[in-house]
Amino acid sequence: MKGSRVEQFAEALDLGTTKAVRSASVAKTVGRVHTLNAVFDGKVEAARNYAAQVKSYVLDNLHDLLLEFEKNCKANSITVHWAKDAESARKIILGIVEKNTDKDSPIVKAKSMATEEIHLNHALEEAGYHPVETDLGEFVVQLDGDTPSHIVTPIIHKTKEQVAETFAQHRIGPPSHSPEELTMQARDYLRGKFQKAKVGISGVNFGIAQTGRIVLVENEGNNRLSTTAPDVHIALMGIEKLLVSEDQLPVFLKILGGSATGQRLTTYVHLISGPRRADETDGPKEVHLVLLDNGRSRILNGPYQDILRCIRCGACLNVCPVYRQASGHGYGHVYSGPLGAVLAPALEGVEAMGDLAKASSLCGACEEVCPVKIPIPHLLLELRNEAVRKGADRSQIPWQWFGMAAEDSRKWKAGLSLLPLAGGLPNPATKGWDEHHTRPEKQGRDFRRWWRDRA
Ligand code: SF4
Repeated sequence: MKGSRVEQFAEALDLGTTKAVRSASVAKTVGRVHTLNAVFDGKVEAARNYAAQVKSYVLDNLHDLLLEFEKNCKANSITVHWAKDAESARKIILGIVEKNTDKDSPIVKAKSMATEEIHLNHALEEAGYHPVETDLGEFVVQLDGDTPSHIVTPIIHKTKEQVAETFAQHRIGPPSHSPEELTMQARDYLRGKFQKAKVGISGVNFGIAQTGRIVLVENEGNNRLSTTAPDVHIALMGIEKLLVSEDQLPVFLKILGGSATGQRLTTYVHLISGPRRADETDGPKEVHLVLLDNGRSRILNGPYQDILRCIRCGACLNVCPVYRQASGHGYGHVYSGPLGAVLAPALEGVEAMGDLAKASSLCGACEEVCPVKIPIPHLLLELRNEAVRKGADRSQIPWQWFGMAAEDSRKWKAGLSLLPLAGGLPNPATKGWDEHHTRPEKQGRDFRRWWRDRA
């Protein structure tokens, strides 16, 4: 995270970025309404209520359901690992990687916010390995040395011309501005990586407690190749991503596809039941599942528990007026938008990330679209209160000064007379903003003098 939060948001407020983010997020928001109405035959509220109830049940019974899931995964020959934090998750994954691949072979990665959360690529690269992002958007992000700007569509902030420029710089293929041509270039490039990789890494969309199966959804086919072409598949899953049974899947698959991209269903849905069986000719020889806590147990037992219902659809980002202006980069965390404004401080503490809770107009649009009915504005207010209670909200200091002056007319007048002098001084509270914006010049006389002269 660089600079102050104000600085981050100010930097992200680039006109080109805002235009790209706004047009894509508006299109997805419109698509979402049409698709959900169509797939649920107008009964979208009933579907949202059902999804919210299922996820609440999962959270209320998480301990038992996780043990059931572990038992059934093991019965499916999936090796289960428990990671209490990001560091232990990285250590577990690096241990599996070291045993199963050399440093010349690529490691193919499917899109996964959990791996972003634990900064896995950085750890793999530091250890001398070569992770390759195989989701098209993530691939561009990796080539650019950038970070994802959206949890579903990582390059929502980029135009096709910028992608073409990146591909040309990295000689992925001959210069082209055609999205189809660029996609084919990435496909050819990545195909070679899939063929050479000995380890593939993915996230998990849902884990099914009763059957011990891992569910992945995607549109590009790269998840399938990442999880089946290499001999070893490692899946990283947040412990809250459970469903109880496969009967619950149809509603969740429809509500996720519709809310995320306005699709009735994603192009691919994978139900992974373990490594290849003796009579099967393909698939991985080993499947490892890493169950990641990293602060989730703490959230589960606190006032922000509802955020753990999140299914990472991104609908709240698409509809948020703050996100549409600033894009994901303004938030300075892997989780952005209204989801990130709650989850980032809930995971990392209000002392570190509490000011993100103020990156919201509290218009309530996020709660209206959330497929699992998370009361995001309520959680944001609770986080703001906690930040004030803990003295972590430094923006209160100017208000405290204001309060002191406003209570005493002599102090107020003295303050006003000093204001013209202070106007030219650098203001630490608005430093980041001032670097990117010009303040308007003061015009005309001040009101008090005008009032006095008039009398
Ligand atoms: S908080 Fe709700 S709307 Fe936002 S990503 Fe999560 S499930 Fe989707």
